[in-house]
Amino acid sequence: MVMNEPMVFLFFGIPGSGKGTQADLLAKKFGVEHFTTSKALKEYMASHDDSETREQKEVYKKGVLNDPSWVLRVVEEKTSEIHDQGRGLVYDGSPRTLYEAENLLPFLVNLFGKENIKAIRLAVSTDEIKRRLERRVVCDKNTAHSYTTNGGFRIGEVCPAGDGGILQRRDLDNPKIIETRLDEFNKRTEPAIEFFEKNHGVIKINGEQSVEDVHRDVIKALEPKK
Ligand SMILES: [Zn+2]
Repeated sequence: MVMNEPMVFLFFGIPGSGKGTQADLLAKKFGVEHFTTSKALKEYMASHDDSETREQKEVYKKGVLNDPSWVLRVVEEKTSEIHDQGRGLVYDGSPRTLYEAENLLPFLVNLFGKENIKAIRLAVSTDEIKRRLERRVVCDKNTAHSYTTNGGFRIGEVCPAGDGGILQRRDLDNPKIIETRLDEFNKRTEPAIEFFEKNHGVIKINGEQSVEDVHRDVIKALEPKK
């Protein structure tokens, strides 16, 4: 695929489906910005201290989704900045709710054009997700550096990517928080995906494969049909 204009890719997938890793690979492949919603929100929370932001910090720690209108405002602000630099992006974690989907899709169509927006769903079963999240360790410098304990990686070890990061279990990956996150996904994010399916189209990819095979299938699915 040749990009003549900045493109937008959206990855949908239950927490632990591998969207972060796939978004990173796709961003590198096409030279676009990897936009991690959770990271953008954390940066925003770290640099703002008004009462609304303080409230959202508490919500975030519980594994519950942040207030959609607040999230949408942060996401649209950052997206406009990237667009104004003439760049495309890969979303990793947006939209998460129907409210965000209904507002974000027209916003993106207006900025980038409908034909330059591709939504992709990584399909992974809940059982597989639980197994993955419970054994996941993530680099504290770059959450795209994600490894598994049964791959021989341990908490407290240095990140093999060589950035000096330390492998940790993410707070969001403890079993109780996982249940909440999966629940939130089913109740609140599924309707957002359905909205995209009805109003835009979503490419479905089997996410229960190796990282390389998922990436290959994504690239193949993005090729223009002959
Ligand atoms: Zn790292």
